[in-house]
Amino acid sequence: MTSRISAKKQRALEILARLKQLYPEAPCTLDYETPVQLMVATILAAQCTDERVNTVTPALFRRFPDAAALAGADVSELETLVRSTGFYRNKAKNIQAACQMIMEKFGGEVPRSMKDLTSLPGVARKTANVVSAHAFGVNLGVTVDTHVKRLSYRFGLTKHTEPVKIEQDLMKLLPQPDWENWSIRLVYHGRAVCNARSPQCDRCVLVDICPSAHVGQPAKKVANLSRN
Ligand code: SF4
Repeated sequence: MTSRISAKKQRALEILARLKQLYPEAPCTLDYETPVQLMVATILAAQCTDERVNTVTPALFRRFPDAAALAGADVSELETLVRSTGFYRNKAKNIQAACQMIMEKFGGEVPRSMKDLTSLPGVARKTANVVSAHAFGVNLGVTVDTHVKRLSYRFGLTKHTEPVKIEQDLMKLLPQPDWENWSIRLVYHGRAVCNARSPQCDRCVLVDICPSAHVGQPAKKVANLSRN
């Protein structure tokens, strides 16, 4: 058991090292200037691309630049501004409610603990991890999006399909300072090479250490892993 766990850990560290070399610069792909703006952009990024969110947030943040403004916004105007990101009614409602809570309970600042962050409407662990890592430089957990989910499974580092359980597995295998590095690099690699339907194993730098190389996965499993 011990040697299996350490082999997994070694594989995880080797994958991380190679992906860091391949993607030396891996900044957050959402545009923002403050922790509140990053929280809002991350809420908007659910079921939407970062590129699309980045086309919406300049006008949104010009009109409502901070938690106070967003808390007091006319919700129908908010809905109009975020409409093209999808699920816009729910997103606008959550953004406003989260900003109201930030104003009432947290003195106008985004809170820093996982417990407080996830008490905000629309903020689950994934959003909390992104906000904490990029706005505060603190890795509270491993961000698990659709790419991290699929690739971690293909790497044989988890057998789970639920993000919270995948996150627990990854937190045991990776050093805390690299938790967000891991997620960002996997997103890059998932988009560029190891995509959901047709992974490009022939041109993948991980081909010699990836247990799924040239193997693929049952269609049903891939479909499940491709959901957020
Ligand atoms: S070898 Fe294939 S399955 Fe493994 S990470 Fe690379 S592209 Fe994905």
